[in-house]
Amino acid sequence: MTETEIPEDHPRYASLVTRHRIEAGVEKGITSKQGLIAQGRGEAFDYLLGERTLPSADAAARAAAAALRLADHPVISVNGNVAALAPSETVDFAEAVGADLEVNLFNHTDERVRRIADHLRDHGADEVKGLAGDGEIPGLDHARGVVDADGIESADVVVVPLEDGDRAAALDAMGKTEIVIDLNPGSRSPRTADVPIIDNLLRAVPNVTDHARDLADATPAELERIVDEFDPDAALDAAEAAIRDGSFADEADETDAE
Ligand code: ATP
Repeated sequence: MTETEIPEDHPRYASLVTRHRIEAGVEKGITSKQGLIAQGRGEAFDYLLGERTLPSADAAARAAAAALRLADHPVISVNGNVAALAPSETVDFAEAVGADLEVNLFNHTDERVRRIADHLRDHGADEVKGLAGDGEIPGLDHARGVVDADGIESADVVVVPLEDGDRAAALDAMGKTEIVIDLNPGSRSPRTADVPIIDNLLRAVPNVTDHARDLADATPAELERIVDEFDPDAALDAAEAAIRDGSFADEADETDAE
């Protein structure tokens, strides 16, 4: 079944489209097989969150947009899942906040970096970093720490959607402001982030982009206030509470019960 053949009125439409994109990403050599496992894990958490953007995640998205507006050199890290799921949205995001795009893979091969860079260019990106590999994230073995010197290595703010916990901690140790998008509030990467956005990448990326456009005329003082008022621990707690206290009964069930 292709993406266009999935019936839009299917109750699991969004989930089926997402699975299809990841599967197509693996077939194109963009996404690794481990990416399929990450997808399954994310989907389970999204189910528990009610497949919606929590108010706390929206506040995180606004804080992320403010931090990116204040940044001197923001970089958005793109892996195989991000490229397969939201290429146009990610390119639009980078443009809205004036960030570089850098392909950064846990299972690095030059071939896959090239394919992802081509895929992003097919979706409107001008320059895509990640192939120079002349920089490093200290504290990691070479294969996992390789980055571009004029990209992630010299960035002040990095957006790392779906990042591995070790690398998130190593980036934090470099003193970078880290924005993590991840559906699991218990994962190490959002727990080390300055701004953890506990939401599906497919909702979070366009949402941060909208906030960034909305904040285009905000003064530095206003942006700093938004960043300072954001509390990462409270955002993680709110997501955890939504998962633990949630109910599978949706509004329709509740109406039926009345
Ligand atoms: P960590 O090392 O940070 O503890 P992990 O081992 O829990 O991470 P991985 O399996 O390395 O996680 O990576 C998958 C992560 O990506 C999961 O936390 C999952 O919730 C998240 N994820 C998968 N798909 C999405 C998506 N579409 N949007 C947001 N997060 C996602």
